[in-house]
Amino acid sequence: MDTNYTVLARKYRSQDFQSLIGQDVLVKTLTTAIKTGRIAHAYIFTGIRGTGKTSTARILAKALNCLSSDGPTATPCGVCENCRAIAAGQHIDVLEIDAASHTGVDNMREILDAAQYRPTNGRYKVYIIDEVHMLSTSAFNALLKTLEEPPAHVIFILATTEIRKVPVTILSRCQRFDLVRVPVDVLKKHFAWIAEQEKVELTDAANELLARAADGSVRDGLSLLDQAIAQTGGHVDENAVMDMLKRADRGVVVDFMQTILSGNVATAMAKVDEIYTNGADLTMLLTDMMEWTHWATRMHPVLHTGDSSNIPYTADQRARINEINKHVSLNTLSRIWQVMVAAVPEMAAATNQKQCFDMLVVRLMHVADMPPLTEMVKQDKGAVAPVTPKVADVKNETVQIKTAADLADLLKDAREIMLYSYFTKNIEVSDITGNRISYFDRGNDSDFQKKLSSWLNTKTNTNWELNKIEESHQNQTVREQIETDVESDPMVADAMSLFEGAEIVGISKQ
Ligand SMILES: [Zn+2]
Repeated sequence: MDTNYTVLARKYRSQDFQSLIGQDVLVKTLTTAIKTGRIAHAYIFTGIRGTGKTSTARILAKALNCLSSDGPTATPCGVCENCRAIAAGQHIDVLEIDAASHTGVDNMREILDAAQYRPTNGRYKVYIIDEVHMLSTSAFNALLKTLEEPPAHVIFILATTEIRKVPVTILSRCQRFDLVRVPVDVLKKHFAWIAEQEKVELTDAANELLARAADGSVRDGLSLLDQAIAQTGGHVDENAVMDMLKRADRGVVVDFMQTILSGNVATAMAKVDEIYTNGADLTMLLTDMMEWTHWATRMHPVLHTGDSSNIPYTADQRARINEINKHVSLNTLSRIWQVMVAAVPEMAAATNQKQCFDMLVVRLMHVADMPPLTEMVKQDKGAVAPVTPKVADVKNETVQIKTAADLADLLKDAREIMLYSYFTKNIEVSDITGNRISYFDRGNDSDFQKKLSSWLNTKTNTNWELNKIEESHQNQTVREQIETDVESDPMVADAMSLFEGAEIVGISKQ
């Protein structure tokens, strides 16, 4: 390999405002301010890593000190003595300080003491303090002192990835600019241009993968491109990038999610083993599964908010997601999302990621197949609901009422909401034998008995005898039964343990 090889991020570092990637708003505001002579004494640039904070700081330093014009210029020439020295990080009046290694107050005082002296070659003395949030409190105080009464020839440019850690007293004296995550299409365009300059082959699909993996950071994307070029000898295609990112193909992810949602544990486990053996990074796979869940939710027929131009799946994969979506409720998607979110820190902390991932898959299948709570309650206590495809409404022709819950279900299915609500809330059924129901009524609707008996008689075509007893036998109402059953159900206990501080606030039938 050529020992003089310069990494792409450095080689293609933006040298003027026009070539800053994806920061249009910042460029417009900053250049307008310079053109109109409104130069602030302190700037702070914030944004995720690799979005161009340091590049912008250097360009601004050049704009302030460029010799091509009589004063600060929005279009520094790039070739004068000052511009070149600044670009190389060697200008005597432009100090680049890495706060991470100058956290102490003595360091900071020393640096700031020199601020009193006039610049040697430039118009302004420029202090670029990178990762400024790393400064100690006393160092911040020293900086604040200078910021409060800055000498006319001094400009501070602070940069940070963590703006919340910068004291408000400092922030209030700075003009703030937020560097945004660079959008995928802008990154793609940039990478394609660089590939052309470098005379390397970069397929569109490979470029797309790189741009997405970069997650808004030009620098991260370029170092991935560096790596891909080195590994492929300049023929960067989708497979090579996928292999490099240890990423499962989106098709594999769609397959896998389909397996999980179909409830076949054995097949799902076999698939995890296969994907893992093929070398996929399981954290990345989880990220891909979350991406799938997000898009499946947006594409769900109930919402239908998927903007087709942004969906990262091929037409064929989209068709399959639409097919899966016909059988999956929004509720299920949202539940599996929550389980995945909870798994992110677990995976990060796990000593054995494969184990952690296997358990996640089981949990996901469990949550995906979890029937509505009311259905679980109807089953024998403690029995885990078997994974069965939902059969469309099997109607039982003969009406059987053996328990209070049977009657409640009947009322609910018939949409007798008033009766259902009163019955489940107020009625303590003490006995049902044949067509005779004995109960205690906690409420005060004197018409209830008449209404229920008339409804029952019509519904079942037999005469019911409703016997209201005067004294409570301390039986539970249907609602109380459901609450007790739900709370003691192992699946609910499991679900509640997933979400810290969760409580059952209501039970609804989907
Ligand atoms: Zn210049």
